[in-house]
Amino acid sequence: MFQGDQGRNKDGYLGQTIQVDRELTRLKNQSIPLGWMTESLPTGHDDSLMFMHRSAVSASAPSILITAGIHGDEPATTISLCQLILEDALPKNITYAVFPCLNPRGMRISRRETPEGVDLNRDFLEAETKEVRTELKKLREFESFEVAILLHEDWEANGFYLYELTQPNKPPRFGRSVLDAVSKVCPIEKNALVEGHEADRGLIHPPYHQEQRQDWPEAFYMMHNKTDHSLTLEAPSDFDMQVRMKALMRAVLTTAELVSGKEISIVRTDP
Ligand SMILES: [Zn+2]
Repeated sequence: MFQGDQGRNKDGYLGQTIQVDRELTRLKNQSIPLGWMTESLPTGHDDSLMFMHRSAVSASAPSILITAGIHGDEPATTISLCQLILEDALPKNITYAVFPCLNPRGMRISRRETPEGVDLNRDFLEAETKEVRTELKKLREFESFEVAILLHEDWEANGFYLYELTQPNKPPRFGRSVLDAVSKVCPIEKNALVEGHEADRGLIHPPYHQEQRQDWPEAFYMMHNKTDHSLTLEAPSDFDMQVRMKALMRAVLTTAELVSGKEISIVRTDP
């Protein structure tokens, strides 16, 4: 059922790459009639970050932040977000803020880090890189998000998994529903220990201690400043691009539909 090519990645991602500039230009042009506004934010690296925004009609609508491509060797994150937007599948009663590729210079060379060798997803406390500073400056325009969805891939994973962060003592909220939806299109990671974290059929709900880490990932910043709920999605990059794209698209769409209230009974079961 799943077209996999397990084991192809050794010591890093060696799979299919994308022409990121071409894809982002296509996204920019074709999303205009769908109601999206696109901005090109100069980073100072003789380069820019693309930011996209679409407002719901109602000013009181919930908003969602979606980011992808912070690691340049995770091309399915950016391309699946492009496809999801261009298919116009996202619910319209939500306001969206989207960074489709946070590390375009890394993605051009299929490298996790920036060309300077910096992992942007460890720079959210100090914010020393131009890319992270550019993202955070734009996010100051937004008060808060209902949820932050951060797209990633893991070349060592055997299946899809996710990290769900909630406020202390709050249970997971969407994670299981998202994994159930993804399981229709992609295997779920079965290991009980993933990246040193306890995982329950693909769901990692770590007690996170921001004060104990100096190398904040993006999710920590968002939880500290912009939201009380984040999902970090991890697609298994040993699988074909199409499988990873379907998995990430299904995960984002399911989350957005839960926020939009289509399955409000599932959403509001928190004590
Ligand atoms: Zn990543």
